[in-house]
Amino acid sequence: MQDREYSKLVQDLCRVDEAFYDRVRAAEPRYEPVEKLVIPPFSGRAFTVKRGQVFRVVQTEGPQAAVVAFWNAGNHKEYYNAMRGRIYEGLFIKPLTRMWSDVPYFRPMATCIEDTVVTRPPTRGFHHHRFWTHCSPEVMEMRSGRPGLNGCHLNLLRAVEPFRLKDERVRYNINLFQKARLDPDDGKFYGARSDSKTGDYVAFYAEIDLLVAVSVCPHGDNTRDWSVPEDDAVLSIGIEVHETGIAPKEFPRSADWRPGWKGRWTEDLARRTR
Ligand SMILES: [Zn+2]
Repeated sequence: MQDREYSKLVQDLCRVDEAFYDRVRAAEPRYEPVEKLVIPPFSGRAFTVKRGQVFRVVQTEGPQAAVVAFWNAGNHKEYYNAMRGRIYEGLFIKPLTRMWSDVPYFRPMATCIEDTVVTRPPTRGFHHHRFWTHCSPEVMEMRSGRPGLNGCHLNLLRAVEPFRLKDERVRYNINLFQKARLDPDDGKFYGARSDSKTGDYVAFYAEIDLLVAVSVCPHGDNTRDWSVPEDDAVLSIGIEVHETGIAPKEFPRSADWRPGWKGRWTEDLARRTR
């Protein structure tokens, strides 16, 4: 029996409507600018993006990895989980890749609509991925032996603090401008210097009202000597938010099985229902 490709097991109802996103991209000359900000090196920022708006993550000074996390702006219990969509849509973030929230919500929160980075040889890999989570001061200490170094987890926590989000809600993200691959034979992760250049960006269309947090990763262009506390090898990241004027399509919701649940954890599940 042949191996089954999991992305082919998704029902038509859940497939990406390519014509819709063509229309969103074609409307770009009519986009209205909403917000523009620059995130300095070794820091993070959080901002809201309303449904139907587009936000771009921009290389303002040159190649620089960015970590991006998403929550429902009105309900932080709904968050992006890197594990959910990747079995159906793959590990890499490309135009038409969707960022799915975890159950019980389980729907696309944002859709990638544009990527200007050109991946070049000789090293293999792709720039935008959801292999894993993000770096943290603990990880940096484990690798360098030096405590107190900067890390994306710290940057994200500082960014979302004004929105009352706590540590346990900061776990999943996507990684942009970080050229990387998983070796099919040894299963290990390999990174290479980013090919992105100043002005490159990745754009996302918000399917629901979003809280977005972005960390400027201390790994810089993915080759930095991160054991040095702070240096000029880490560059700023730009954010642009635009109003498209195009409302998102409603996504079909899955049936809620929780009200009929008769197990030991009924009360706990009732609290978690949408
Ligand atoms: Zn990082």
